[in-house]
Amino acid sequence: MRKLNIMLGAMLLASTAHAQGVSAPVEPGVWMKGDLHLHSRHSKDTTNNSVGKIIHFAEDEGFDFLGITDHDNHVDGDTAHHTWADPEWRSDRIVLLYAAEWTTERGHVNVFSSHPYDQKLLRSMSDARDVKLIPLRKGLGVHMSANHPTNKDHYGFSFDMVDSIEVWNSSNWAKNPPALLVWDDMLKSGRMIAGRGGSDSHHGWPDKPEDRGPLSGERMANYVGTPTTWVYAAKRDRQGVVDALTHGHGSISANPRDPRVEFYADLDGDGKIDAMMGDNLRADGKPVTFRIRLSNATIPWAQYQVRVVRNGETFTTLPVNASDPEATFTDTPPLGKRSYYRLEVTGPQADYPAVPMVAGRSDTMVALSNPVYFNYDPSF
Ligand SMILES: [Zn+2]
Ligand SMILES: [Zn+2]
Repeated sequence: MRKLNIMLGAMLLASTAHAQGVSAPVEPGVWMKGDLHLHSRHSKDTTNNSVGKIIHFAEDEGFDFLGITDHDNHVDGDTAHHTWADPEWRSDRIVLLYAAEWTTERGHVNVFSSHPYDQKLLRSMSDARDVKLIPLRKGLGVHMSANHPTNKDHYGFSFDMVDSIEVWNSSNWAKNPPALLVWDDMLKSGRMIAGRGGSDSHHGWPDKPEDRGPLSGERMANYVGTPTTWVYAAKRDRQGVVDALTHGHGSISANPRDPRVEFYADLDGDGKIDAMMGDNLRADGKPVTFRIRLSNATIPWAQYQVRVVRNGETFTTLPVNASDPEATFTDTPPLGKRSYYRLEVTGPQADYPAVPMVAGRSDTMVALSNPVYFNYDPSF
């Protein structure tokens, strides 16, 4: 861990972008953790889940940002006068994104924004053709994200409309592998689409025994942070979170106590990091050193397996121990062709006592990185 900190520090002091880098090298920033898919009492299919309950839980567990994404169809699109106007929708410690789940017949889309925007307008366009929706999204200046792309109410719009895909929905990992196949297909097609997680949790602890409902038990196994999305934000504010999410500067962990996977590229093997996950680089036909770090690997005896996915296929699998949670590999991305590399980390799950039954649901999937890209067209 210390070794990489030193390298990261050295890199941060480097004054100019690496000559081969299409995008800038890793800028100073802050790691933030949050949940980007949550339903409060403003969604009609929830129980015992006030906005205040969600935010207090997240504050107690040390989260940094939340996207409370209530179903817009339950309030005629008027999230501005429901979720965002809820007197409990405030926190001194947590960045609260303007957000909603655009809930349409063609699928569900999470919308994230640093500023208030017109969700009613989106609601009114729910059946519009994609060709009209893509410029609409640009005009609103929001981040759109394809929800649970292979589950019920799957995302059925064009992937040209979205900035990210919910590749990890809820703690029930078994539902998610098909979403990774969709993601890999979109990445192979030339789209730089970030991956993110979201618990999609709907139910809180009942305050009184008589408030208990048939779904109250879900609170034990799926709540804020299952999974947790990490972003490396330039600033600890709404815009910082949205920008990091859009650029894929981040990763996903099964819960906030599990390791955070970090993925960096060193283009010339000089020990300095030139890029991080989400960045797009130009391949120069020389070997690239990739650096993997599992930050906050707290189970002392744990061994994790890191599967490196290159262009949708397994490139290699590396063991990484909690006692020395770093690994490297090298490869030569081909000249003049697109390629991407991303990571899947499996191993033992850390306890998350606030959501006590989560571990069994997440299976052995611990973390997913975003890709490092080569030769992608940034204007695609
Ligand atoms: Zn949904
Ligand atoms: Zn939802």
